[in-house]
Amino acid sequence: MNERDSEAVAAQLVAKGYSLAPSENFADVILLNTCSVRDFAEQKAIGKMQNLAADVRKNRPNVVLGFMGCMAQSRGQELVDKLPDVDLVIGTQKFHRTADYLDEIISGTREKIVDVKAEEKSEATIREHLLNGNSQKSVSAFVSIMQGCNQYCTFCIVPYTRGEERSRTIPDIVNECRELVSRGVKEITLLGQIVTSYGKRDSSLTTHHSSLSPFVQLLEAVHEIDGLERIRFTSPHPKGYGDDLIDAYARLPKLCESAHIPVQSGSDRVLKLMHRGYTREKFLGIIKKLRAANPEIGITTDIIVGFPGETEKDFEETLSLAREVEFDNAYIFKYSPRRDTPAAAMPDQVPQKIREERNQQLLETVNEIGKRKYNSFVGRQTQILVEGPSKKNAARMSGRTRCNKIVLFDGSERHRGQIMDLKITRAGSFTLYGDPAIVNL
Ligand code: SAM
Repeated sequence: MNERDSEAVAAQLVAKGYSLAPSENFADVILLNTCSVRDFAEQKAIGKMQNLAADVRKNRPNVVLGFMGCMAQSRGQELVDKLPDVDLVIGTQKFHRTADYLDEIISGTREKIVDVKAEEKSEATIREHLLNGNSQKSVSAFVSIMQGCNQYCTFCIVPYTRGEERSRTIPDIVNECRELVSRGVKEITLLGQIVTSYGKRDSSLTTHHSSLSPFVQLLEAVHEIDGLERIRFTSPHPKGYGDDLIDAYARLPKLCESAHIPVQSGSDRVLKLMHRGYTREKFLGIIKKLRAANPEIGITTDIIVGFPGETEKDFEETLSLAREVEFDNAYIFKYSPRRDTPAAAMPDQVPQKIREERNQQLLETVNEIGKRKYNSFVGRQTQILVEGPSKKNAARMSGRTRCNKIVLFDGSERHRGQIMDLKITRAGSFTLYGDPAIVNL
């Protein structure tokens, strides 16, 4: 989501005549888009700004320095007070104002600007795309369908930094997707904090007489777009996996068989303390139904270890859930207390050392299962959408299977944007290697 917000701001500035600097050493404006989900991310952004102030500012006093996004939203004026080199602080509902604020600062009309106010209809302002950011055509794009979150999980700062859930209209989203497809995009990922809550708070957005949830109505509308090959979404909430969404995987061929479903814990006691709204059994039931609808589906998740009050027994239940589901991959987070969230004030905070040990233990379990799953692809034929050169080795091209696994192969620019069949020849760490030449052997 942060990448998407940054891209929209960059595209907006490019439209105003700015160009992308090859690095911060050549930039006249440096904006750090920030995340607040864990304390580490905030400290990293503050450290980076201190370095910019010490290095870049020293040599080029007119460079504009700013923070955007979640930390900008939650800390606001405090950032300017603590870091006097900061000129601009832009909250999560104000990304689209960036160009105007820069004009004011650069022209000297205003010296410093902090804007973290709420703004009506800001959910529909993240719409511009760079697409040709690296002077190459983008094959895959993210489309923001909503902003905010109303779930109020007790560990999470997002409802306070991103505000209440607000959804864009279906025609508005479809128009943006259509425009992207006309510019060569083949795959669209619908984005939101909890996409499965799309449209639930505004009955005017969707058809009332449909038995389908607003999110599935949106999926159907995007599915209609000619030329679009693949649809993905992130991130959903387990509560949003009704039968209509599960059926959509079997019914809508462009909807890729992959699901990132954050489970957070395998213990019912901890899930309740987290205010997640489902049980372990309910979660396992969803996975069973998804695999019945499509046995090839790739399933990934987010898990927090060391939530306040998490006992050894609770953690064992998370380990056993990971073994039972056999996730293709999992993002594991050590619990990080966030300001103003209920969990930060809960008793029995788990010592850092135990959080680290549990993180390591779960990581080993997830890696071991992932290795087995990735190895099972070796020798099989699979279809990928080629996205571009591999980040680590430009001589290789990189694509994704429908179940969201990265596949590398020896290819060239002419493969970009193609849907290709490959035979998987070997598996690395959460990466597959394929060969198009031996596909029919
Ligand atoms: N839609 C997701 C869900 O259903 O929970 C929320 C996305 S959240 C921005 C990304 C992930 O960050 C969460 O799934 C959670 O695992 C992790 N996270 C959020 N708050 C955290 C905290 N205080 N400490 C550690 N990890 C956290």
